[in-house]
Amino acid sequence: MEEGQLVFSMRQCGNKGCRFRFPAAAGRGERCPQCGNHTAVVAIPHNKRENAILHPTSSLHLELLLDNIRSVYNVGSIFRTADGAGVKHLHLAGITATPEHPKLVKTALGADSQMGWSYSRNGVDTAVRLQNQGYRLWALEDAPEAISLYSVKRDMADGRPILLVVGNENVGVDPAILQWSDQILALPMLGVKDSLNVAVACGIAVYHLSLAPSRKPMS
Ligand SMILES: [Zn+2]
Repeated sequence: MEEGQLVFSMRQCGNKGCRFRFPAAAGRGERCPQCGNHTAVVAIPHNKRENAILHPTSSLHLELLLDNIRSVYNVGSIFRTADGAGVKHLHLAGITATPEHPKLVKTALGADSQMGWSYSRNGVDTAVRLQNQGYRLWALEDAPEAISLYSVKRDMADGRPILLVVGNENVGVDPAILQWSDQILALPMLGVKDSLNVAVACGIAVYHLSLAPSRKPMS
């Protein structure tokens, strides 16, 4: 449970000139944080877990290689997102922090204890070893030969497990891994900037891949 046992309700300020609307824990927020007026509960919490789309039954066998991720916060964030997207295992390599790092535990919000992980000093060795074991080696990188993430169909992996490699915030995926990759995927960039935060990009990629449609309808 992310917020312990606390139940949050939406409250709204009764001052017609203010109407500040905010979430507050049970027994809190009687006074408006903006103007000090009385507030009232305007919406009670709903059960977020009743919708069936929140628990799809089939997903791709997807594992991640986090190779030389500099920020421990990015690693923790990826742990949490990977858990949500049904990623099966996290391979950590090089300077990437492991769940033994206290700051990672804080960012991952418990996902680090659910997700299987392993560490190696050399990410290229790990990528090549898994590829030799039958994994499809895919890299997330803005490379000239990359295809759009959104053109990926789940059967492009031919039923094999996928190892998706995410690389360093500054230098990207190791060129030696790009060289061995079966597929390089890039996120289309619609704005001014040409890249996203690595944890955000990774989150978009794992969600799309986990639930990507097939080229042919599934029988
Ligand atoms: Zn107010």
